[in-house]
Amino acid sequence: MKKTVFSAMRPTGKLHLGHLVGALQNWLELQEKYSCIFGIVDWHALMGEYEQSAEIADNTLDMAIDWLACGIDPKKSILFVQSHVPEHLELQMILSCLTPLGWLERNPTYKEQLREITTRDLQTYAFLGYPVLQAADILLYKASLVPIGEDQLPHLELTREIARRFNHIYKQELFSDCEAILTKTPRLLGTDGRKMSKSYQNAINLSDPGKMVRTKTQSMFTDPKRIKLSDPGHPNECNVYSYYQIFAPQKEKDVYAWCTKAEKGCTDCKKILSDALWEKLKPIQEKREHLAKDKDRIRDILEEGRKKASAIAQKTIQEVKKAVFKHEL
Ligand code: SF4
Repeated sequence: MKKTVFSAMRPTGKLHLGHLVGALQNWLELQEKYSCIFGIVDWHALMGEYEQSAEIADNTLDMAIDWLACGIDPKKSILFVQSHVPEHLELQMILSCLTPLGWLERNPTYKEQLREITTRDLQTYAFLGYPVLQAADILLYKASLVPIGEDQLPHLELTREIARRFNHIYKQELFSDCEAILTKTPRLLGTDGRKMSKSYQNAINLSDPGKMVRTKTQSMFTDPKRIKLSDPGHPNECNVYSYYQIFAPQKEKDVYAWCTKAEKGCTDCKKILSDALWEKLKPIQEKREHLAKDKDRIRDILEEGRKKASAIAQKTIQEVKKAVFKHEL
């Protein structure tokens, strides 16, 4: 029996290079080894984007197209949309009843997001409880492995605590501890050197046309100490160099040499990088274009995923209800 992996993304906008190296490339490896369940978690998107909710449906379909274009294979993995499987909310409700408020109020990500996201009002009941929905997402499929970055470890610990509390209160061993698969995600900053984010408009999207990839690459911040062409640069202080390390590691040594010896200017250096990025994105976009022509096929794939996800979810929710209510209602 292969172990079950659960992972998800919120459909809040276009996918970018950060998603490719931070999640999708890792998912491609995972789907070869495990039973993977990949969710487009639109309820989570609604929690933050409830005022722009009309965009979530388009983003959901777009996300499925991006996943497929990057190689996520519906024959190997389950791809589904969270709101198509109502058991997520049922389990969330049950888990909400037993999750102490203090656990949610202490959540460092919650506090950080309230501080940092000033464009939306996140002081809502749902947003405080989003780790409970995350716990429900994972526990519904009894996933034993969850690929995450180190910063998300407190969330997974919260899922484990909620699962243990459920088991303890209802004297069951229904949920076992899920483990993190710590992803060695390279830190990819946006083109302006800040955290890559849709709100900063500093990301190169997987669906950006070649011309836009070039323009965005040319706009990238470089080593601030390199002012003239004859000034030797400091690659380790340049965002462009870190992109080379991730997307064109075969060129890393050359870039280091031409930068530190001032043999090439930053414009040329960025031009070569944009060619390398396009080489990576072009096959994804060709596949993407082909897939986008047949949206009904994408909907069919998500429907197949819904059926498979629902079969697991319904079994779990029956067990959960039996444990909670002790007999059939
Ligand atoms: Fe950065 Fe390349 Fe310019 Fe060096 S030459 S500072 S690596 S853009």
